[in-house]
Amino acid sequence: MTETEKRIAAKIPGEDTGIEIKKSVCPVCDRACGINAYVKDGKIIKIEGCETSPGGKGFLCPRGISARGYIYKKDRVLYPLKRVGERGEGRFERISWDEAYRTIAEKLGAVKAQYGPQAVTVYSGHTKWYRTFVQRFAYSFGTPNYATESSCCFTHGYMAGKSVLGFNVGPDMKNAGVFLGWSYCPHRDPRDLKAVLSFKKNGGKLIVVDCRRTQAAEIADIFLQPIPGTDLAIILCMANILIENGWIDKEYIDKYVYGFDKFRAAAAKYGKDNIEALSGVKYEDIYKACELIHGHLPMAINKFNGHHVNGFNANRALYALSAITGCYDVKGGQSPKPFAFQHMGGGFKTLDREFCEAKRPLSPLPIGCDKFPLWNWYEHEAQAISIPDSVLNGEPYPTKAIMAFGLNYRMWPDSQRMKEALNKLDFFADMDLFLTDTAKMADIVLPAASTVERSDLKFYPGGYMWYPAPVIEPLGESRPDEQVVCDLAEIMDLDDPVLRSGVVATYDHILRDLSFKIKDVSGPDPVKVADFKPWQPMQALTAGLPTPTRKIELSCSVIEDHPEWGLCSVPDYMPAFDEKEAAEYPLVLVAGARNKNRFHSRLTNHPWERAAAGEIDIQIHPDDAAELGIKDGDRVVVETRTGSIELKASVTEVSRRGSVNIYHDDPSAPANDIIPSDRRDPYTGFPAFKSSRCRIRKAASR
Ligand code: SF4
Repeated sequence: MTETEKRIAAKIPGEDTGIEIKKSVCPVCDRACGINAYVKDGKIIKIEGCETSPGGKGFLCPRGISARGYIYKKDRVLYPLKRVGERGEGRFERISWDEAYRTIAEKLGAVKAQYGPQAVTVYSGHTKWYRTFVQRFAYSFGTPNYATESSCCFTHGYMAGKSVLGFNVGPDMKNAGVFLGWSYCPHRDPRDLKAVLSFKKNGGKLIVVDCRRTQAAEIADIFLQPIPGTDLAIILCMANILIENGWIDKEYIDKYVYGFDKFRAAAAKYGKDNIEALSGVKYEDIYKACELIHGHLPMAINKFNGHHVNGFNANRALYALSAITGCYDVKGGQSPKPFAFQHMGGGFKTLDREFCEAKRPLSPLPIGCDKFPLWNWYEHEAQAISIPDSVLNGEPYPTKAIMAFGLNYRMWPDSQRMKEALNKLDFFADMDLFLTDTAKMADIVLPAASTVERSDLKFYPGGYMWYPAPVIEPLGESRPDEQVVCDLAEIMDLDDPVLRSGVVATYDHILRDLSFKIKDVSGPDPVKVADFKPWQPMQALTAGLPTPTRKIELSCSVIEDHPEWGLCSVPDYMPAFDEKEAAEYPLVLVAGARNKNRFHSRLTNHPWERAAAGEIDIQIHPDDAAELGIKDGDRVVVETRTGSIELKASVTEVSRRGSVNIYHDDPSAPANDIIPSDRRDPYTGFPAFKSSRCRIRKAASR
């Protein structure tokens, strides 16, 4: 081996080796960590964290480390495809982009002509950052039915922020005295773990509340493990204890809070007499947590994924804890993090929302918004979980075609029902990186380029923005999603000169109120933009919040003004389960806890991650397992009133007694298949992924 060959084998960059380092962002999840891609002969041969990037600062999580394998995974869609077999069968033939575009234009046009534009739903899954284009496309086409995976992701938490405070907020853990970590799992990411360990080392107190006993419980000063779905009752009990003991900031409340008396009355219903029966947590333990909070203010709190019927209200009540202790808009508490673009904060504002709103059809109401009017009020988009109702039952009117960017039917509760809905459509097109089981249902499949093969607008804390250049050519004939949207707008002759002007011109249109254009943030590194304004404590409260009352709303004035919605203006607990099911289905099924090796279904079946994550399992508490005669490693059948799946049992104290946990989105044991689709948060329409009733039995031996 020559010296140069040795250097090539060691992947050392240089003129002699022909290896170049190019900066980009990790394609796997939304945190957009910076990467150094080692490129040789147009191919990425190695990926490492980029130390100069504000996204990650050199760190890659276990998922990011697998990014190269993700980009080059064997089931990448490389060319536009037309289905020639049955839906789901996976038989396609390659077609040109021209034919794909023409077919989509004709089919969507035909549905519009026959049933009206609302019969077409335009859907976006992962990633989120091109959504502004997709939403505008839907509206310019004429349909109000723009839908996204955010209908069951985190938007219930963002909605809670909007209703209480007017915008999204985040915790200032570094300066906090106590951190309330609700369903908090820092061990999933080295950066989060480093932050909490440093917080603890500096004397910070950590309270962890989680129905699962994760590693975070081991480093907590106080750990509370409620029955899944009952978080809200505990938060209200905490509020009650804080108020009863006078451990609140009365002056702050008088000045900045609206609806305190109503909230106090709601909280007063949860205390010594009922909280243990409701939540499984002792009143004395909750009291101790409140003592710790009172003794170590300011308090920072994380948002959490309350995927159950009380999810929106639980997040609202957490914001209320922050408000009554005087911890919002202060150092060490919660600070405003308004979105600059999509769900990314930036410390400045683009016009992405206005860009979409300018074309939004005001009637009919989007799908699901008749049943979930508060969702419609804040989000102005279809509640995607209601799509099967529209396709299969014509509620509130029929959907006949879906133009999707990254749709995964396994995201839906009772996923087979969504699959059945896809099967019933007159036309379904899906753009994706991979030929997924959902893409196999499509009539036309379009090949998507990953983030390293295209530019993608990114925002980072501290006012950084970046529109990185692609580091490799798109694989096969794959294209950026934004480009496809702009091309379709042109081919379909939509009345939208902005979209039709192309991707960069559209971004510049969205940035027009700022002091820079897209070319100014297209260099080799993220750019700190001059428009960034750092947050100053009490700035938001002094100026008045963007809520109708300009105050922190513990009673939501929007709900107060709409009694016809039948919603409660203050967060009040509703039973997490249908207790009639308890006798037949004695256990509580929790699906959707995060896995450090995967991001939902992304990386499922990636060989490295498969090896690290192991076979999908159901986690059962040792006492429940003993009662059921189940041993670690046994095959078991999990049944709900919706269906059943079979998988391996892991006997572990991670699960609370009486509840079991399954990672979602693994096709070998798809937990969402058995989550009932009719139990939803009445405020947001979110499904109860984390609190369905189930039973378990040992599988018949094979
Ligand atoms: S997968 Fe990991 S490394 Fe990649 S962006 Fe997400 S957090 Fe960062």
